[in-house]
Amino acid sequence: MTDFTRDFTMTIQGGQALARASIDIVNPSTGAVFAAAPDAGPDELDAAVASARGAFPDWAATGIDERRAVLKAVAAIIQANQDDLARLLVQEQGKPLADARAEVGGAAYWANATADLEMPGDTVDGPFGQVVTRYAPLGVCGGIVPWNFPVVLAMFKIAPALLTGNVMILKPSPFTPLTTLKIGELLRGVVPDGVLNVVSGGDALGPLMTAHPGIDKISFTGSTATGKRVMAGAAASLKRITLELGGNDAAIVLPDVDIAAITPTLFWSAFRNAGQICIATKRIYIHDAIYDELAASLAEYAARVVVGDGLQPGVQMGPIQNRPQFERVKDLIADARTSGLRFLTGGTEDPAAKGYFLPITLIDNPPEAARVVQEEAFGPVLPLLRYREVAEAVARANASSYGLGGTVWGRDLDAAQAVADRLETGSVTINGATSPSPLAPFAGHKQSGIGAEGGRDGLLAYTNPKTITIARDQPRSPG
Ligand code: NAD
Repeated sequence: MTDFTRDFTMTIQGGQALARASIDIVNPSTGAVFAAAPDAGPDELDAAVASARGAFPDWAATGIDERRAVLKAVAAIIQANQDDLARLLVQEQGKPLADARAEVGGAAYWANATADLEMPGDTVDGPFGQVVTRYAPLGVCGGIVPWNFPVVLAMFKIAPALLTGNVMILKPSPFTPLTTLKIGELLRGVVPDGVLNVVSGGDALGPLMTAHPGIDKISFTGSTATGKRVMAGAAASLKRITLELGGNDAAIVLPDVDIAAITPTLFWSAFRNAGQICIATKRIYIHDAIYDELAASLAEYAARVVVGDGLQPGVQMGPIQNRPQFERVKDLIADARTSGLRFLTGGTEDPAAKGYFLPITLIDNPPEAARVVQEEAFGPVLPLLRYREVAEAVARANASSYGLGGTVWGRDLDAAQAVADRLETGSVTINGATSPSPLAPFAGHKQSGIGAEGGRDGLLAYTNPKTITIARDQPRSPG
């Protein structure tokens, strides 16, 4: 295969960095290798840590306005390269071009909006004097990112880390490192040397970062299983951690919905990015009175969706991003078939398809214990479930070790709000898909995560509280 490692280089100390080995990058729409990325080992990681540690004191001492200006420049560079970055993102990730453009634009928006956040801080009059609370940066932060939204999820970490005065080592997924590496390259000279380092590598690199004594915090987005390994690895040096993990979000559809009006939005809340969204709808509880009509409406809509290579015009849904995930989702569909579940649509793959394509699969009212209900599919497979009492739907939605998000659909907003209040999740959206905002915390409850990204909570996650007391009138010690 052609060696493309020179085209995709890591960024350390503001310059290009190579590795001795490389990893192949596959286009999921074709199943073929089309590029390679550097495979960093311990030496390259040490270089990145040294660069970041060296840059930290100056960056932490920079005024907030200067850091805001750097983030604004980051946003402008990403925005200016939106089309080229989006085309590369489609090739490595598989999503349709319009969605890739939205993701790249979303990263620029996230950087801009985060730059405008106010830094938390407080002054109070205590019994012994005036106490000023500031939030001090942690130091070197490691960002570990998955393959479903490589660009925007990287920015969820870069922007708050840099604004609060930290420096970062960012590691994209081995399946989707290319667009992130290009962004690192574009930002050389825009972000001061060493403040943002981008390293790529295989399965060994994440654990190396988690264990590295020169890294003070890991902000991790990925599966719950890996999140537990990150937490265990971080314990040795008591690193701070933020974990944004998996979910099995329930949609609860109340009987008063307008079926035709909600069908497209509800459908895409589950199937955007081929279902590979942490916060996607992964099971839909539909009231008995409207179950048949809504199920038919969703199946009809699904039949019209254009699935294919994301660079082809008109394509609305791409492939599964990588082979292991493709095999996992296929296994879930096979399990549904051998369990005798009824498919409203999908369920059989096209044997002629070259890439990792799976059909949109809707499963008709499986038992609650079915794997397709209990597990996070992270692919275009969705169970529709019938309920009779709202309290029963809420109980079934909450009977999960996950607690990431959920949605409620209904015309009576008070009734919908009452259901939203009872869902044991970090986010709930009424009558729409959930989309994290840089202005509010996005946090997983239960085994969906620890900590938050976004808003004031997201900034605080990159800091240690520090109080400075200006003493007055201390009581004298006796004698
Ligand atoms: P993953 O856990 O396999 O990998 C995520 C990242 O962790 C990758 O960069 C990987 O290289 C790295 N990694 C792997 N093993 C590691 C280890 N032992 N120590 C440190 N790092 C390690 O997840 P994935 O398959 O890339 O992504 C899909 C999962 O991510 C789904 O479960 C999805 O729900 C979740 N996700 C969560 C959010 C959120 O914000 N809550 C967002 C997107 C995706």
